[in-house]
Order: sequence, then C-alpha cells, then structure tokens
Amino acid sequence: MKPITYTKKHAASEKLAVRIYAMLSATDPKLSEMLKHGYVSDKNDFLSIRSVKIYGDGALGSRGAALLKPYHDDADNVGLLVTSKEKLTPLFDEILNHRFQINIHAIGDRANKIALDEFKRVFKSPESVLYSGKELRHRVEHAQVVQPSDIPRFKQLNILPSMQPTHATSDKDMAPKRIGNERLKGAYAWQQFLKQGSRVIAGSDFPVELANPFLGLHAAVTRQDRKNQPEGGWIPSESMSTAEAFRAFTIDAAFGAHQDKVLGGLQAGKYADFILVDEDIFTINPENLWKVKVLETWVAGKQVYKRL
Ligand SMILES: [Zn+2]
Repeated sequence: MKPITYTKKHAASEKLAVRIYAMLSATDPKLSEMLKHGYVSDKNDFLSIRSVKIYGDGALGSRGAALLKPYHDDADNVGLLVTSKEKLTPLFDEILNHRFQINIHAIGDRANKIALDEFKRVFKSPESVLYSGKELRHRVEHAQVVQPSDIPRFKQLNILPSMQPTHATSDKDMAPKRIGNERLKGAYAWQQFLKQGSRVIAGSDFPVELANPFLGLHAAVTRQDRKNQPEGGWIPSESMSTAEAFRAFTIDAAFGAHQDKVLGGLQAGKYADFILVDEDIFTINPENLWKVKVLETWVAGKQVYKRL
C-alpha cells in the first residue's frame, strides 16, 4: 500500500499514535495528481496534508548549501541548487494554484535569497492575497545562513523561519570553517528574527538530529553542546530565552502547521495533548534542560505513555 493511503486509513480508524503534519515532496512524480486531490485531513486532526516541501539546496557540512560567494574553505565552490531556478518558478506557481503551503529547504544565503525572490514574485499579483504568506503561512526550512539584508524580507513577506536549534550546536565548529566570520552574522540568527517580529518556529530536523525536543530547548537557550561548550555559548547574542524557545517549539510550531486553534497550548477548545515532565523548565539551570524526562504523554485526553 502507498504510504499516504496507509496513513489515511490509520487516521480514519484512529490508529495513529501521534498527530502527523505531512508535507508532499516536490520531487514526487505524482505531485500534480496529489495537488489536484486537495488537502487531506481527518475529523480528529491526526493527519493533515496541505503543504509541499521543496528542496532548495544541500547542507553546509558537505558544502552543498548554495552560497552567494564561495566557501571560505573551498574557493571554487558556491554549493548547489537542488531545484534549479527554472524549475522553481513553475513549481511555486503550480503549488500556489492549489493553495498549498510552501515549505522550502534553504540553508545557504543564495538559496534563502532565491526562495525569498520567488515568494516576492508570486505575491505581486492582485489575487495573491489568497496564497500570501499571511494566508498560507509559507516557511523557509532551516533559514540557516542568511544574508543580513535578507533577514527583514522574511517579515515583509510574512515568511516563517522554520529553524532547528540543535543545528547551531552541531555546526558550531564546522560553520566558521565553511563560511568564515563575516557570514556568521546572519547565521543561526534566531534573535535577529525574533527582534524584528518574525515568528520563529522550531523543530528537531529528525532524523538529521535527535527527535527529543529538550535537546532543542537546551540548544536554543544555551547555544552550548551537552558538555556545556563553549563557555557562555556560541554567538550568545542569538540565544533565546526559555520562554521564547518554548513558544517556538509549541504554539508557534502549531501556527506554522495551521494548527494553533487546536494544538500548541493548554486551553479550552483545544485537544488535550500534553506531557508531564520531571523538572520545571522555567526554573532549572538551563544547562540541564536536555536532561528533562517525560513522565507521561497524553494525546486528546488519553494517556498514551507512562514512564516506568
Ligand atoms: Zn531540510
């Protein structure tokens, strides 16, 4: 059975253990067919498909991230676009014709710029209010190395920076070698996005990183690895407060998935999806955030996990 059919069947029979906000892949040969089919959802909000993941460029470690200027440690290399500019334009048009959300992977400053340019282009037409950033909550996945002059464009175009805090702590020794110090000014720049009023939505990027969100909260607040290195944190001016990080991982992540009315907080009218943990994350020493343990997990008011 095809994965989507399988997942839909399980969602319909309430057999999914967790909620899934799935993205169609822009490289799927059946993309057009799936877009025509329209949004997929079930009445209990266990499965929701209304977005497409586009692959803009590669990753920084392998020098595949598309940069505006050559790599600091490879003078002949500016990285690569996984989807060419020529292909990106009709792809954006087709996806937006069906009013799907666009989540485009962009790590390097060139990929980020091209993604923003595409959004700017499509938002020019009068009917674009129907598929604007405000309406469809489009995201740039990673927004890792951004030219500082492009950071305000995220706010102007209402594009959500979807960022994964553990990338900063995993990359802290590698990134300066790849891009040098100057370009670090717009790299893993959570606080610059927050200060301009962008809603930063956080995630793990599992399976590239571990799925445990407490590792993410720890990285977001300390900008340190789990050995608490470097002292004081890596580029500490970009670190988040615990409240900012918590928001990015909960209500704002739900916003980025069009689920903030039903998920992302404990409020009357929302699903009772919550966890019980062994520490108060707002009062413990942030160095210990990654050690927080989940005692119980509840989904829609039903206990689905208990730590023994
Ligand atoms: Zn990605």
